[in-house]
Amino acid sequence: MAERWRRPANVIEIEQTNQGLWLPDGRVQGQVILHMSPGTVERIRLGYMCVKCLEPFPVAWPRLCHVCGCRVRTEQAEYFAREFGGEVHVGPSTSIDEEVERMHEEVEREQKEG
Ligand SMILES: [Zn+2]
Repeated sequence: MAERWRRPANVIEIEQTNQGLWLPDGRVQGQVILHMSPGTVERIRLGYMCVKCLEPFPVAWPRLCHVCGCRVRTEQAEYFAREFGGEVHVGPSTSIDEEVERMHEEVEREQKEG
C-alpha cells in the first residue's frame, strides 16, 4: 500500500488567466490558477506539500524541496499567503470549528476515493 503522504496533489482545475505574459512565440508564462481540493490546499498549508511543484513530503516543512529546490521552510508560508490567501479565507460567518470539521470530512472523502 502506498504511504499516505505520497498521495499526489488533487488539482481540480487549471485555469489560464489573461494576466500571464504572452510571449512572441505563443507561449504564455505565469498566471495560471490552480484549483485544488481543500485537502490538498491544507497539505500545502501544513507544509506537507511543495507549494511550487506540488511534491508531497514525508515530514512537514523540509528545509528544501528535493524536487524543485524551493526553500520550503523559509519561503512557503509567505508564498502560500500570497497565492492562496483569498482561496482559503475563513469568513467571519464560519467558525473555526465548522471549518475544521468540514476539512476533516473532505480529507475522509478523499481517502475513500483514493
Ligand atoms: Zn518543489
